Amino acid sequence: MEVYIKMKKKILITPKSFFSARDKAEEIFSKYQLEIVENNTGKTLTKQQMIELCSDVDGVIVGIDPMDEDVLMSARKLKAISKYGVGLDNIDLKVAEKLGIKVSIAKGANTRSVAELAVGLFFAISRNIPKETYIVKEGKWDRTIGVELLDKTVGIIGFGAIGREVAKMAKGLGMNILAYDPYFNDVELAKALNVQIADMEEILEKADFVTLHLPLNEETNRLINREALSKMKKTAYLINTSRGELVDEDALYDALKNGTIAGAAQDVFSQEPPCKDNKLLSLDNFILTPHIGAFTREATERMVITSAKNLMEMLFE
Ligand code: NAD
Repeated sequence: MEVYIKMKKKILITPKSFFSARDKAEEIFSKYQLEIVENNTGKTLTKQQMIELCSDVDGVIVGIDPMDEDVLMSARKLKAISKYGVGLDNIDLKVAEKLGIKVSIAKGANTRSVAELAVGLFFAISRNIPKETYIVKEGKWDRTIGVELLDKTVGIIGFGAIGREVAKMAKGLGMNILAYDPYFNDVELAKALNVQIADMEEILEKADFVTLHLPLNEETNRLINREALSKMKKTAYLINTSRGELVDEDALYDALKNGTIAGAAQDVFSQEPPCKDNKLLSLDNFILTPHIGAFTREATERMVITSAKNLMEMLFE
């Protein structure tokens, strides 16, 4: 029988919510020899903190903390990055590949949670739920008329895991569904989900709810710009649970202020948290959540288990 002791590895864990389900990870980690460094700041780490903490680790379980070229180049022992989530825009993938650093995602772990939040935001913005709550708490009784989702058209941009989950729910709600995704060609699946494949123009022009479920990259940065917003219906809502940089926030402010579109809901911002003087925060027809798309008990547990398993596989197997 071959007897061998696997070398001890040092790992860094950055996401705050990882620690709320850490018992699930400890079961997985217990099979390996590990020295674990935790982010105990309670905040997303800065680039400088990442440079310092990554300098001598073999692996990282990372949330949205920056892993750009400078961080990766200074992480001399780094062999593997396990993303706690699915969006890889905070990791310089080209540099990681050049340096031979493996990268994995927690595929599917947060799909349902993000999709539920997106649909929740359809209801919240179309029935003015945050505004009405605030008004009554202020001692007033002032009602703003809303609209139903039934028979409205949802335009899904990015028809991957989350986009398809949104489509399933929209079908149940009796909505018409359009989807745009240049890399999607499964006609049978589209048919089964009652989805009509469309181009961007058609979505912008026809959708009552435009919902973003695509990754942030050079091609998609500010996809929703002034021109795109100008093509949307005056009664339409924009829902962004993907990444803040997909939307030109100045153009969105003007579109909401001038009535080019009816409202917008965002879970994500190009700068998180948004600064206090972000103009969008002053608008009644703009609602937000603080990047809570994947922040549910269920998704957290799944992301802890998947990201821990992924890192152990990449480092030890
Ligand atoms: P996914 O990879 O399953 O789906 C993304 C889809 O976007 C793919 O089908 C891809 O073909 C498509 N796409 C790529 N470029 C496109 C383009 N230019 N136009 C239209 N479609 C394009 O990923 P997913 O799990 O569905 O996640 C989608 C995004 O949601 C992630 O990239 C991430 O940014 C975001 N996200 C946010 C949260 C949150 O907490 N708010 C949590 C998880 C994921």
